[in-house]
Amino acid sequence: MALIVQKFGGTSVANPEKIKAVANRVLSCKNEGHRMVVVLSAMAGETNRLVSLANQMQAIPDPREMDVLLSTGEQATVALFAMAIKEAGYEAVSLLGDQVKIITDTMHTKARIQSIDTDLILRHLDQGRVVTVAGFQGITEDNDITTLGRGGSDTTAVALAAALAADQCEIFTDVEGVYTTDPNVCAAARKIDKISYEEMLELASLGAKVLDIRSVGFAKRYKVPLHVRSTFTNTEGTWVVEEDESMESMLVSGVTYSKNEARITVSKVPDTPGTASKIFWPISDAGIIVDMIIQNTRAGDMTDMTFTVPRTDYKKALTIVQKVAEEIGAESVTGSDNIAKISIVGVGMRNHSGIATTMFHVLAKEGINIMMISTSEIKVSCVIEEKYTELAVRALHEAFALDRAELANA
Ligand code: ADP
Ligand code: ASP
Ligand code: MG
Repeated sequence: MALIVQKFGGTSVANPEKIKAVANRVLSCKNEGHRMVVVLSAMAGETNRLVSLANQMQAIPDPREMDVLLSTGEQATVALFAMAIKEAGYEAVSLLGDQVKIITDTMHTKARIQSIDTDLILRHLDQGRVVTVAGFQGITEDNDITTLGRGGSDTTAVALAAALAADQCEIFTDVEGVYTTDPNVCAAARKIDKISYEEMLELASLGAKVLDIRSVGFAKRYKVPLHVRSTFTNTEGTWVVEEDESMESMLVSGVTYSKNEARITVSKVPDTPGTASKIFWPISDAGIIVDMIIQNTRAGDMTDMTFTVPRTDYKKALTIVQKVAEEIGAESVTGSDNIAKISIVGVGMRNHSGIATTMFHVLAKEGINIMMISTSEIKVSCVIEEKYTELAVRALHEAFALDRAELANA
């Protein structure tokens, strides 16, 4: 008898029929004798609907109230799911983040899980119940409801699997696994059978939303093997596991894109010690994560500073930077949220040169201008205009022969 954590995303629980189908799938595992913990997302589109309601109330919605609002999406699905299980003649219980005691920090709308109490879940499992836990939500020490950031139900599932020392953690979604790129953008995308935590971390951090980055972080830290697979088929999906020799030869294993970024430029900043710190301190103090940073030299003792922030934090960051710019005597602050970050990822890049150059060449051939570049040991990212995203993804996927495993591994 195994303890299995299964997570189903928004499209898998999009309507009552789908929730019933998920319940049947879970029950077939239970009938094999397993103890089942099921983490659910809100119904597809629900979180977006709630965000848009909030935006109609406040220019920058109050983060605490936003979390009270957003957590309702998952509350509804777990209740409906528990009803479906009961209707099928089995016992079930739905639990919210505060009932389980999924304790997080206080960073509303992107809180981090600090601890999970497994007692209540284990007690219900001991009573033979299917336990369903609302994804994406937690509670602070002061009893404020928090959410974990978009896509955060994956993180709830993996954190629960780690805390419960589950035998399996399965992430069910609307595609058959992790692909070489988003299969909904590039028809030639190929399913990857096995991928290392490290590569998956890069793919997730660079926009492959099939897994939330924090879920991969938890999986890596607590050595939870993840199986990402389809809700709608029985096909074997992708295993996210520790790196092994069979993976080392991958040069480029994936292409990702992220439309979640915005660019801010502070022009004619005095080029003196401490300026960068003055600009970035209040931004990080507000909990905003800065990704790429470019500092250009101008003639004289002036410099331009360009950087990217998550698009959801764009307005907030702009307001902060405008204030700092005035204080430090910078000339202007401009920005754009019509950008996208395109990246190529692969552990094999460590030992190869020329990968970045090939990427630049491919984008140039398509007439796509590169605004920013950043590289690390196993990835190269370029910021481009958002409207070229799909074109860039397909061209890069083709250029690195990712549709053909034998060539991608050459
Ligand atoms: P869920 O609601 O199940 O959590 P998500 O929409 O968050 O599902 O994630 C699944 C989606 O991720 C897919 O429908 C696909 O469009 C997208 N995606 C982006 N990159 C990849 C990738 N490399 N492999 C698979 N899916 C990807
Ligand atoms: N419902 C939340 C979202 O849409 C969390 C999740 O689905 O993982 O981001
Ligand atoms: Mg998701």
